[in-house]
Amino acid sequence: MSGERHPALDGWQTDGGELLVGGVPLSRLAARVGQTPFFAYDRARLTARVDELRRVLPAGLHLHYAVKANPMAAVVQHLAGLVDGFDVASAGEMTTALDTPMAADRISFAGPGKTDAELEQAIAAGIVLHLESEGEMARAAAIAEVQGRRPRVAIRVNPDFELKASGMKMGGGPQQFGVDAERVPQMLGELAKMDLDFAGFHLFAGSQNLRADILMDTQAKIVDLAIALAAHAPAPVTHLNIGGGFGIPYFPKDQRLDLGPVGDHLAELAARVAGELPEATLITELGRYIVGEAGVYVTRVVDRKESRGQVFLVCDGGLNHHLAASGNFGQVIRRNYPVAVGTRMDGAVETASVVGCLCTPLDLLADRAELPRADVGDLVVIFQSGAYGPSASPAAFLGHPPAAEVLV
Ligand SMILES: *Cc1c(COP(=O)(O)O)cnc(C)c1O
Repeated sequence: MSGERHPALDGWQTDGGELLVGGVPLSRLAARVGQTPFFAYDRARLTARVDELRRVLPAGLHLHYAVKANPMAAVVQHLAGLVDGFDVASAGEMTTALDTPMAADRISFAGPGKTDAELEQAIAAGIVLHLESEGEMARAAAIAEVQGRRPRVAIRVNPDFELKASGMKMGGGPQQFGVDAERVPQMLGELAKMDLDFAGFHLFAGSQNLRADILMDTQAKIVDLAIALAAHAPAPVTHLNIGGGFGIPYFPKDQRLDLGPVGDHLAELAARVAGELPEATLITELGRYIVGEAGVYVTRVVDRKESRGQVFLVCDGGLNHHLAASGNFGQVIRRNYPVAVGTRMDGAVETASVVGCLCTPLDLLADRAELPRADVGDLVVIFQSGAYGPSASPAAFLGHPPAAEVLV
């Protein structure tokens, strides 16, 4: 890594030219793992990130971790002692969450297309269901009756506005997520007739947002909408999940999200909610903001070659483990994730492309990056890899072994 310091490199240290992960020099960590490629997640960085959020966010606001971002069991276990709850989006993630000390009533389950089997598991587990449609509500009520249980349910609302400037929009306009806000009053009327324990609302507008002003504007609208909808509810709101969407800097021009004003504004919103919905627990759910910057992907150079004047470092990993770093996980424009040669952090720099070993030109991890001159055996590191890594990548594509994962 050279030139302007990338914001993603904040806090990473080196020793004798090697990157330290969890205090361990990279080549030694690779030996400990016993293979490349691997993902390594730094426990201290996870803890520090939650501490930072606790300092800035209002005390009463519950911080949930969206397990989708990184479902590695050890990571979820570690976070169980740090956050107030987990948000899951499948029965598989629910199982991972229930294996931790987190209480079931602090786990909520959102996601379209929950099967009857998943609803049965969730209702038996006693977690909070985020209902994504009227049909899902009817199926949940029928399953609850069979089980003789009265599950806590919240309605996921598809708002009539969106989170602008987001990496991914998941609210506003027609969506497969949630129930259109204008239909929620009628759905609440139906819910009142069912044997379901109304808990409140879930509003998630989008993710990967670096703009404090836009986040604050959307959070205010979300709280307004929840307060308006609560007037139609059969019981007081006890559970109000206002989403998250905090982004992390992936690319050199990305400015870090300015968390201070977001925290101050959330304190104002929390006071407003305490006045209008006094029984409500206010929740924000974050995925990549908690785990994304704590993880690196490490892949070994297998071949160094030159083609018509361009240097290629051909590695043993690639998009099969880290689709997002190849630019194929929903990105509109392909840009390089921050990359370094973790075994030569301070060597003389050249321009080189880092590619994987798959037979497709999509398998590009870094396009003409400025990197210390690397050779066969060196370890290439991709930063900002703690979220949407192996679980969001096509591991079977081309039949190479999976990446290992370690928490250090
Ligand atoms: C994906 C998702 C999240 C996490 O998004 P991040 O960008 O990782 O913070 C949170 N809530 C819901 C409902 C999601 O679908």
